[in-house]
Amino acid sequence: MKNGKLFGSIEGGGTKFICAVADEQNNILREIRIPTTLPQPTLAACAEFFLQAQRELGALTALGIACFGPLDPRPDSPSYGHILATPKLGWENADIVGFLKNALDTSLPIGFDTDVNGAVLAESLWGAGQGAHDLVYLTIGTGIGGGALVNGQLLHGYAHPEMGHIYLPRHESDLDFPGVCPFHGACMEGLASGPAIEARWQQKAASLPPDHPAWSLEAYYLAQGLMNICLTLAPQRIILGGGVMNQGFLFPMIRSELTRLLSGYVRLPEIEDMDRYVLPSSLAGIAGLYGGLALAHQAQL
Ligand code: ADP
Ligand code: ZN
Repeated sequence: MKNGKLFGSIEGGGTKFICAVADEQNNILREIRIPTTLPQPTLAACAEFFLQAQRELGALTALGIACFGPLDPRPDSPSYGHILATPKLGWENADIVGFLKNALDTSLPIGFDTDVNGAVLAESLWGAGQGAHDLVYLTIGTGIGGGALVNGQLLHGYAHPEMGHIYLPRHESDLDFPGVCPFHGACMEGLASGPAIEARWQQKAASLPPDHPAWSLEAYYLAQGLMNICLTLAPQRIILGGGVMNQGFLFPMIRSELTRLLSGYVRLPEIEDMDRYVLPSSLAGIAGLYGGLALAHQAQL
């Protein structure tokens, strides 16, 4: 048994749930990957992992769950802790928080939010967003999703933002591409997610060379999206993660396109210093896991 607090984290994804237990310094003491099947077996395996870890290490102080959405993160809502309408088979209305509370300990503090809200909180506590109380994290991967910290609080409303689904002006060279979003066709996710790039160019995004026209089009769309987010939420910084942003050369392209689009309208040092305004995730690849830990830290308060 160790002294000090222990925090549990779940990164709930469409293909796998990653569970971890960490100490107060974020040292990962136990970790497991569980394939995402139906809710009952997936969540039962998560619960078993935490029960076993608690037998070995001691009781958790809090658990944080950073999960795919859409979901209900509002504690005062009847469907709090549930997944909402999702095309993912069997997961619609899945009561994630209820299941884990019952299986673990009904008095365990649990934080529950989207993967991207978890990531923005983790970046603000431990990553590229340190010092910012107004911050946006956007993932450009299989989908596009965004989380926001506003006045130091995670942004909720009717549920949580869905800023990946905003509409963008089409580039004149791209008018015939229908977009891949199953709901909106050519929204930002439909035009600029990894699968959108792959559908448009019929090639794996990772294998497109840096001088391929795919990337200037990608920077064009992402800068449009960032402009809308920047002007709507007025974040002090925007952090970009997700598989597509492994193409690091996109950062200078997006920054210069965003500067061009803003046309000097917002004259603030934070924004004019574009190299420090649009930043890569410093938790790349682990933003979900640390997102869960960040939500656990927040839940204990
Ligand atoms: P998810 O969004 O499912 O959590 P990722 O953020 O890793 O996962 O995004 C996966 C998508 O990102 C893939 O569908 C692919 O299109 C794209 N992708 C992954 N790696 C790269 C890469 N090195 N360069 C460009 N695109 C990539
Ligand atoms: Zn959409």
